[in-house]
Amino acid sequence: MHYTRPLIGNAAVMHYLQKVVKNGIVPHAQIWVGPNQIGKKTFLANHLFERWCAQGKACLKCLTCRQLQHDHYAGLRWLEGSALDMATVRSVIQEAAETSLSAQHRAIVITQAEQLGIQVYNALLKLLEEPRNQITIYLLTTSLDPLPATVQSRCSVIYFQPVPVDELSVAFPDLAEYIGLANGLPGKLLRWQKPTQRQQSVQQLQDWLAIVHSVPVERLQPAARLLPDRAKAVDLNRQLDQLELVIQLLLASQTGLTTTIDPALHQQLGQAAQQYDLRHTVAALHQLATARRSLVRQVQPKLVMTNLLLNIYPSV
Ligand SMILES: [Zn+2]
Repeated sequence: MHYTRPLIGNAAVMHYLQKVVKNGIVPHAQIWVGPNQIGKKTFLANHLFERWCAQGKACLKCLTCRQLQHDHYAGLRWLEGSALDMATVRSVIQEAAETSLSAQHRAIVITQAEQLGIQVYNALLKLLEEPRNQITIYLLTTSLDPLPATVQSRCSVIYFQPVPVDELSVAFPDLAEYIGLANGLPGKLLRWQKPTQRQQSVQQLQDWLAIVHSVPVERLQPAARLLPDRAKAVDLNRQLDQLELVIQLLLASQTGLTTTIDPALHQQLGQAAQQYDLRHTVAALHQLATARRSLVRQVQPKLVMTNLLLNIYPSV
């Protein structure tokens, strides 16, 4: 786990976290909501360093800081929600009840909490309600919707907002023409510092743009290439993110809002933007939001995607 300076965006979250640590009022169960690549894990790592450091300032020299840096800190359980089974959950709950653990501070972090099953949530309820042994629980999620009301009501919720263009431009001066494609997500730009990653992402956007630009019946075959055969919700959501970005770029193009983007993509976008009007694009964003909700409710993914592609822009 790394301590990262400077953090990009979401200054309000950072100030809030510093305040609760300073005043000793850290909520024992927290939900952190925001899209992937917005910086939730980075913020959380920093928060734990600052909260637990023996010097109270992420000194990176004390025993706790060094153990955190080498992922050896006994009090921290960091779990991936997509791979979390009931056996692990039971052992974590059991461990939480034990007071013998040497660590002074303790936390359980569950990333991708939107992918947990109802059984796992139910098992966690008691722990969320009655914190034991000074444990803090952090649930990181892309959306609140999949989390049961019983879970939400037991937690403090922290929201992450997309990072404004001017802040991203300051943080990534070398990636000016890609800022408009990052959709407010600093994690994307960090990845795009590698040219191969950048090209790959632009290619994917171009593919989606070509699909949207073609007539409805011709969209399914090329789209199948982008959607894995046994796609999991997480894969589909990633593809929906790309498709949504293409539609947002079309919207920016149609409303005359300028955005700095890769030149090749810019040209292709201009052609597609002429084919439809603003009304179609606003309707397309609604279609996309509906598809996302259906996927969360686990309506047949293939059917959802097929309907979306056939209806997202009408035949003209
Ligand atoms: Zn320290």
